[in-house]
Amino acid sequence: MDRSASFNHHHKMKSRKLGFYLLLFLGIFVLWKLSVIESGIDKLELLKEALQLHKDKLHLTEQQIILLQQLEAEKHHTNYPIIYCITPTYWRYVQKAELTQISQTLKLVPNIHWIVIEDAKEKSDLVRNLIEESHLIATHLVAQTAPVEKSKDKNPKVKRHRGVEQRNTGLKWLRDNLVPGKHKGVVYFMDDDNTYSIKLFEEIAKVKRVGVWPVGLVGGLNVEMPIVDENTGKVTGYKSGWLPNRPFAIDMAGFAINLDLILTKKDANFSYQMAKGMQESEFLSYFTTKEELEPLADLCTKVYVWHTRTETPKISGTIPNIEV
Ligand code: UDP
Ligand code: MN
Repeated sequence: MDRSASFNHHHKMKSRKLGFYLLLFLGIFVLWKLSVIESGIDKLELLKEALQLHKDKLHLTEQQIILLQQLEAEKHHTNYPIIYCITPTYWRYVQKAELTQISQTLKLVPNIHWIVIEDAKEKSDLVRNLIEESHLIATHLVAQTAPVEKSKDKNPKVKRHRGVEQRNTGLKWLRDNLVPGKHKGVVYFMDDDNTYSIKLFEEIAKVKRVGVWPVGLVGGLNVEMPIVDENTGKVTGYKSGWLPNRPFAIDMAGFAINLDLILTKKDANFSYQMAKGMQESEFLSYFTTKEELEPLADLCTKVYVWHTRTETPKISGTIPNIEV
């Protein structure tokens, strides 16, 4: 080996060594960076959980609540849409019992955003506390039924529509706070007194545009249901105790609508002008046709929701200073 060859050899060894250390350093750096990112994710998770736990005391804005809901949805069920449940409610002795039942049903379902609209002059502590204690992602609103409509309750000849202003207020909240295309979900009108199986919400999660299913104990029948053609899988008519030839002979509890449709068809609302028993049918006409309906719950052969009505209890005495 002459001198220059030995120098070259020496030089090669040196740069190889350098390369090795450089690689080692790079490797350690990458590992360190990864661990920092991971602990960052862990911290984010912890932060999210803390936020979730204390959200009631933080007085989050609507946008922050929506963001929190989205984070939750991403964490658990990427493919499970957010189900916006619109619940009108009003004071009577069974109110707390009804709301306890349905809120605890909702606790068993992922990705719920519960929108509760009180038929009252102002929000009550009873409903506020119940929502807070449920730890559900929820929005609490208020919309009082006009006295002239309410007074129809006392007149057995004119049965008024119930929950009209409240459902419209829920719809307005969605349209004011969510952006079509950006926020994904399904909207369901969830009266406070019905009985809901958690299986129903798995069906609601499948809705692409407008989904329908049977409702038990309604309209004088054991069940009202869409009739589905076995060959085509399409809805051809309805079994209903009340005007089965309505365009949509479906109870409020028997359908759900894609959020995007709700947000883009801004004029679709409920109204006192709609004829008796026509609220659902007229509302659905804004969005779809009978042929386009998606029959869910095993092609409308299963009952997962019941139009139950709680008897008004006879209260002859009240104990003061206790919330019932
Ligand atoms: N509701 C309301 N204000 C009223 C009567 C009813 O907000 O004055 C609500 C009620 O809590 C329920 C929905 O509207 O969530 C439908 O009312 P209800 O169950 O009495 O109607 P029905 O089952 O008899 O059609
Ligand atoms: Mn009811």
